Amino acid sequence: MLNFTVGPVQSCDAVRAIGAEQVPYFRTPEFSEVMLENERLIKTFAKASDDSRVVFITGSGTASMEATIMNTLTSKDKAIVVNGGSFGERFVQLLGIHEIEYSEIKLPVGKALTAQMLSEYENGGYTAFVVNVHETSTGVHYDIDMISEFCKRNGLFLIVDAISSFLADPLDVERLGVDVMITGSQKALACPPGISVIVLSPRAVARVNESQTKCMYLDLKSALKNGERGQTPFTPAVGILLQIHARLKEIEAAGGVESEIRNIAEIANDFREKIKEFPFDIVSESMSNAVTPLAPRGASAYKIFTVLKDEYNIWVCPNGGEMSEKIFRVGHIGALTKEDNDTLIAALRDMQKRGLF
Ligand SMILES: *Cc1c(COP(=O)(O)O)cnc(C)c1O
Repeated sequence: MLNFTVGPVQSCDAVRAIGAEQVPYFRTPEFSEVMLENERLIKTFAKASDDSRVVFITGSGTASMEATIMNTLTSKDKAIVVNGGSFGERFVQLLGIHEIEYSEIKLPVGKALTAQMLSEYENGGYTAFVVNVHETSTGVHYDIDMISEFCKRNGLFLIVDAISSFLADPLDVERLGVDVMITGSQKALACPPGISVIVLSPRAVARVNESQTKCMYLDLKSALKNGERGQTPFTPAVGILLQIHARLKEIEAAGGVESEIRNIAEIANDFREKIKEFPFDIVSESMSNAVTPLAPRGASAYKIFTVLKDEYNIWVCPNGGEMSEKIFRVGHIGALTKEDNDTLIAALRDMQKRGLF
């Protein structure tokens, strides 16, 4: 199988080898060491300040989105939330469930957020800004510098879901004043799904510690307290945390976050050059390095996904709902090479020859 989806993605050999081993007991100094190093490396790669903290939640990305809303916002907050697709919609739902007042900026499919849209909310009595920096469902990457300036100007607490963007696009958490950054194990971290990661600024840590939220499993106070000694309140997905450790060490040895982003950008640019020969339109005003959203002219996107999967053993990412016939996405994260791009291009040429689009 050749996997070009946006997660779970392909893992490198070192990560896969750990998956074949026995899972060790974890209330040990050895595992605590691993966890403290995981925290250190995530902070380094996110360019977070030294006094920031990182918690590792056993649960997919949505668990960390929910934990963030529950532990850092209260009924006194008034949030702005960007809804450009299904992940933005998820934040809207979470704000609703947890009874946080919000205004929603709803974007048409493929459209970028603009300064003009934000200007309406200037000095509007808001306290927080909630955004998926890369709306993976449509492949739109928002201008985080513009968002950061807006938030600084208005004194807003900034929550950024960077689940599919961390390690694929530059994101300098401290410089941008990001208070909460969320990512997950199955995107550019290229490990199995099951762990999500929350990076908290000192301001966010203070909010967590003051929070009166009622929940046992997603209580970040207890996650922070246990994390001080490299532990978690409950049994975490130990094997995946060991895989994340191997992957972070590998990125560090290969030159750190800059070189990782450069690699992913190269794979993405190579693909975007090669795909030009086909009757596909790129349907995003502003793309992440992580994924290319494509609309085939006069052919079903879902059919292309299905034929690639069933007849070529190549997986791209179908879109859900009303976009399923119109758009499919090709991911560039995970253990992929330019030769893998060539394999996908060759399969598409063959499908074109067969008259499938
Ligand atoms: C993948 C992803 C998520 C997480 O979804 P889960 O299925 O809960 O892991 C959230 N936000 C974005 C932008 C994503 O790409």
